[in-house]
Amino acid sequence: MNSIFNELLELTKEPKIAYFSMEIGIQNDIPTYSGGLGVLAGDTIRSGADLKLPMVAVTLISKKGYFRQELDERGRQTEHPVSWDPSQYMTLLPTRISVQIEGRDVAVQAWLHKVRSLTGGSVPVFFLDTDVQGNMLEDREITSYLYGGDQTYRLKQEIVLGIGGVRMLHELGFEIKKYHMNEGHSSLLTVELLNMYKRPIEDVWDERLVWDVDRVKDLCVFTTHTPVEAGHDKFPYELVKRIVGELIPFYVLKELGGRDYLNMTLLGLNLSEYINGVAKKHMEISRNMFPGYEISAITNGVHSYTWTCDSFKRLYDKYLPAWANEPELFVRVGRIPDEEIWNAHMEAKKNLFDYIKAEIGIEFDLETFTIGFARRATAYKRPDLLFSNIERLERIGAGKLQIVYAGKAHPQDETGKRLIEKIFSFKERLKDKIKMVYLKNYDMEIALRLISGVDIWLNTPLRPREASGTSGMKAAHNGVLNFSVLDGWWIEGYIEGFTGWSIGPPPTETGLVENMDTRDADDLYNKLEYIIIPLFYNDRHTWIRMMQNAIGKNAYYFNSHRMMRRYVPEAYIR
Ligand SMILES: *Cc1c(COP(=O)(O)O)cnc(C)c1O
Repeated sequence: MNSIFNELLELTKEPKIAYFSMEIGIQNDIPTYSGGLGVLAGDTIRSGADLKLPMVAVTLISKKGYFRQELDERGRQTEHPVSWDPSQYMTLLPTRISVQIEGRDVAVQAWLHKVRSLTGGSVPVFFLDTDVQGNMLEDREITSYLYGGDQTYRLKQEIVLGIGGVRMLHELGFEIKKYHMNEGHSSLLTVELLNMYKRPIEDVWDERLVWDVDRVKDLCVFTTHTPVEAGHDKFPYELVKRIVGELIPFYVLKELGGRDYLNMTLLGLNLSEYINGVAKKHMEISRNMFPGYEISAITNGVHSYTWTCDSFKRLYDKYLPAWANEPELFVRVGRIPDEEIWNAHMEAKKNLFDYIKAEIGIEFDLETFTIGFARRATAYKRPDLLFSNIERLERIGAGKLQIVYAGKAHPQDETGKRLIEKIFSFKERLKDKIKMVYLKNYDMEIALRLISGVDIWLNTPLRPREASGTSGMKAAHNGVLNFSVLDGWWIEGYIEGFTGWSIGPPPTETGLVENMDTRDADDLYNKLEYIIIPLFYNDRHTWIRMMQNAIGKNAYYFNSHRMMRRYVPEAYIR
């Protein structure tokens, strides 16, 4: 116990930036993440530790994880809770705080895990947990399932994260310089801060002025990740009244969080001095969605060391020493001989194919051009676009193409589940001409194998729904070329035929949201047939030049070290 107190004393010596996220992908076997948002949070923290930034992070313990995906022979998904033991990875702290939920006091405890860097830096992460003796059974489950349950369950989780998180940091003795909300799930923290910094009633001439909105705004940073209206968390005030109660008067809450619903994004926006989207295009979309707010852009990045496979790590160590903490060194990628780049790629490809053999029993061919696609199985990602003209795909690819897919559908996303089944039926249909597999239970480990072990990384989202996207940045770190719709980060990263290829019309055209499928698919097939596949087989030299460009231009820029080096001056210390 004593050592924990000493450690906390040490941790709280310096004022910190507090990073709040519903999910954080710390490492593969800590299942407190579901996808892009959580992995980004993990990369943010890893770069924070490498750069020795004064940060702490707060999230939920998600004791039963997101879910483990099983797929039957027809691609029907079943979800299974993940069992893991937090005490293997983190320390339970003796500190307790409580939050009010449905009028009850619910006790909250916290687990501490420190993300350590080889540079000597570290970032403490606090995992909040309501599975405390004395809490009602129902309340003990609040921090069990990531994105599980209904709206009521979600709101309870957001009370624990936002309000509980601020109280926990305070109780532990932290002085917080900035609160950074990674998406709206933690926006209730602003309400707790409004209460903390309330002016005494006798000092003001109007009772509204007890709420020091400017003081709270000064403390808060908000990053939005959602480019569509429907994606933002909204709760009816009836529900808020019943579950949260009246933390601040409702007329004040409605002014800040929306008249008809409590909109968590709006609440975050109204109480943050600095607001950003996660790519330049996403900033424009967000400005249109929330007129009147000053919204900046800091384009996402990925943690270079985490998302580089072993063979490329060795290559970078040899030719670009110290690259991991200074990804700008990728600018000198031209020093690496072509042959060594190709060999590192073939090693990564073999590593993926060995995994496929072990998992599915199908032998992939190392010399054959291979497309990778893996992301959340949901409608806007259009995982079926590649198959929209199956005869043409068969003609283009017979004997020349292999395909690897992966991705989970959210348990309540029936369309997403149907999409996986659809992909399985295409796989069956193609099996005599084109080898194809669907890997189950996509996670960080499979992601690394996949993004490094294929020849091109395909992305076909429906514009403008990909706020940023990050898996393509991971691919670039391993010399894997992107072939993607112009949305999110790729608008900033692509140079046609140089760092990769685009699909469909340029991003300057607007009003493209509907009925793009045929146009996008035609472009996809044309480029595959006439440009990409011929280049792969007939001009290896140019292909490797493009791999170098992906590293020297895309990985050079789209990494989380660059991202954090921008957050510090633009969001944290301004
Ligand atoms: C990187 C990553 C994602 C995000 O990929 P997108 O292309 O942004 O959708 C999702 N899941 C896992 C496991 C990842 O590693």
